[in-house]
Amino acid sequence: MNISLIAHDNMKEDIVELAKRYEEALSHHTLYATGTTGKRIMENTSLNVHRFLSGPLGGDQQIGAKIAEGNMDFIIFLRDPLTSQPHEPDVSALLRLCDVHHVPIATNQGSAEVFMKALVTTR
Ligand code: PGA
Repeated sequence: MNISLIAHDNMKEDIVELAKRYEEALSHHTLYATGTTGKRIMENTSLNVHRFLSGPLGGDQQIGAKIAEGNMDFIIFLRDPLTSQPHEPDVSALLRLCDVHHVPIATNQGSAEVFMKALVTTR
């Protein structure tokens, strides 16, 4: 499957921790991420991640393009609900494209955990 991993700055530790805990399951899939999120995951795991631009520089939109083309199976996007983001329009566009194309997206740790557990059991 093609899986995207994105985290706002205050959530980077959480997505790294998630990637570490589910590293084995994730290693069987093609992983994409926004720039800094992907860098942090690769520094802390042995996972290979295709990195797009950093989110505020267009990375969310690049992942959105993959969704629109039908090339993304699901997304984990740990959003920071307490900090305003300069690229909020890009975030909204990404969420909208997921809804348009029926692509599952987990936007918090609870739903991300459910997605990861599903990934483990579908192997
Ligand atoms: P980043 O982008 O991984 O490059 O920090 C994430 C985002 O804020 O959309």
